[in-house]
Amino acid sequence: MTDCIFCKIISGDIPSYQVYEDDDVLAFLDITQTTKGHTLVVPKKHIRNVLEMSAEDAATLFSKIPHIASHITQRLSASGMNILQNNEMIAGQTVFHAHVHLIPRYSKDDGFK
Ligand code: ADP
Repeated sequence: MTDCIFCKIISGDIPSYQVYEDDDVLAFLDITQTTKGHTLVVPKKHIRNVLEMSAEDAATLFSKIPHIASHITQRLSASGMNILQNNEMIAGQTVFHAHVHLIPRYSKDDGFK
């Protein structure tokens, strides 16, 4: 989709710090680092959000999360992680290309409550 910021990140038209990539998904650092290592995992296929996803596309996206999440947690020596996902404006979605937030947590961080 031409006016989608995450599609432009996937195509390389907008720069990002990539954390992980395969045929189906891209993971990159969120521009707002709620905590160090805050990462977004997005399907390469443009889908508005989980409410519009097929079960197959959801299974593909979410099957990648444990590997990426544990990689980030270990690499940054985080103590835990919030995994969040917003669908539609009322729920806090501001970018309308499906994405999963991986927010590492550290002792005494003052990030997402
Ligand atoms: P929210 O803004 O409430 O977190 P979303 O769940 O839709 O809503 O998350 C969109 C996320 O995309 C935000 O955390 C925002 O910081 C991030 N973001 C927006 N533009 C970019 C960009 N160019 N590169 C990386 N992350 C971005």
